[in-house]
Amino acid sequence: MHKPLKLPKKAISGVFPLSVVIPPYPCPFHCAYCPTFPNIPKSYVPDSPAVKRYIDNEWKIKETIQSRLKRMEALGTPTDKIEVILIGGTFLALAPSIKKPFIKEIYDAINDSSSETMEEAVKKNESADKRVVALCIETRPDVINIEEMLSYGTTRVEIGVQAVDDEILKLVKRGHDVAKVREATALLKDAGFKVGYHMMPALPGSSAQKDLHMYKQLWEDEDFRPDQMKLYPTLVVKNAELEKWYNEGKYKPYDEETITSLLRDMLISTPRYVRVVRVMRDIPKKWIVAGTIHTHLRMEAESDAVVEVRSREIGYKMKKGYKPKPWQLKTYEYKASKGKEFFIEAVDENDVLYGLIRLRFPAKKVLDELENRAIIRELHVYGPAAKLNEKSETQHRGIGKALLERAEEIAKESYDDIAVISGVGVREYYKKRGYSLGKYYMHKKLKNKD
Ligand code: SF4
Repeated sequence: MHKPLKLPKKAISGVFPLSVVIPPYPCPFHCAYCPTFPNIPKSYVPDSPAVKRYIDNEWKIKETIQSRLKRMEALGTPTDKIEVILIGGTFLALAPSIKKPFIKEIYDAINDSSSETMEEAVKKNESADKRVVALCIETRPDVINIEEMLSYGTTRVEIGVQAVDDEILKLVKRGHDVAKVREATALLKDAGFKVGYHMMPALPGSSAQKDLHMYKQLWEDEDFRPDQMKLYPTLVVKNAELEKWYNEGKYKPYDEETITSLLRDMLISTPRYVRVVRVMRDIPKKWIVAGTIHTHLRMEAESDAVVEVRSREIGYKMKKGYKPKPWQLKTYEYKASKGKEFFIEAVDENDVLYGLIRLRFPAKKVLDELENRAIIRELHVYGPAAKLNEKSETQHRGIGKALLERAEEIAKESYDDIAVISGVGVREYYKKRGYSLGKYYMHKKLKNKD
């Protein structure tokens, strides 16, 4: 065994995750569990660490991002490959006059320059020193605009699903039904986005048994089958309507034992093509009225029977002293939202994961640009982040190339062309592999047409 590596935790999956908090505009929805505080983005509490950084900097987005990047570099974390994650409220529901300048400021901060327009700032990032390799927007299934998200360079969309039961959704005043979740999931996958779900066990009207049943439905019913998952057991947070329900005895969260055993069962039933990104929300204790405050529940809920992506990633294994081994490609095919998915992974003899690619044969044409094309929704090489032109023990070692070639081979059997949804900062990588930029996607001809 190798001596355990000291890896900067933030970049363990190969990219630096940069949370950008949306200023506190009101959210037009009224979910019963969601707290409201003056001058704090909806669903957050005053001293959440990410939010605090922006408040301390008086919501100066560019300055806050740049000081965060400088600080992480000083701590030894590479920040030249960045995943931007927009958090707080419902960004897509805001006015266009707020959204475009906000996205421009993010890219300007990362490019360390000032652009005239958002489009110019996005373009500059293609060859900047620090590149946005992925951009994630959190939204609701009923607030989705495909072209708008593509114009920002979005690659992943996380939707608040919470429960797949219309009665529960109505009870918590969510404002959309399960049919909307099915519709949004299909649209997002056919547009090539990586799709994440947020689920909330222990909502009013549910039970541990019902929660597990709903969770298993996500994998049994092909209309769901997201790529990523965040599990946020319901907490009674100060200033949420749920606090009133709790005080009136109308709602009681599960005890810790029930939650831990439920999460264990959920993790075990998660398929290998899904990444469980997070278990529990990180809310400072002083704002929690009732519910589990123990944020390390994931560790207790983990077991050898778990096969989801994160539990098999080489970066986490290396932290425990695991030495990288030879890998081979394996393809797992499944149906999702009426299309066909190919989940190709680079794994070693112990099923440790070095990289993955998600190839889709879409069910419907969402945009003209995607007509008669297979689409790559994600390409990810795991392991500690390497700098853009350097090699780490797992990154820049031919894994990405092998995954891409295998996906192209599979696509070639049914399509003449292939498209990739690519983070703005990864476009150069695809250009070197024969792709060229269309309006939003990178494209490559797989066969010469007669
Ligand atoms: S949509 Fe999201 S931010 Fe808005 S009230 Fe519901 S949970 Fe809170």
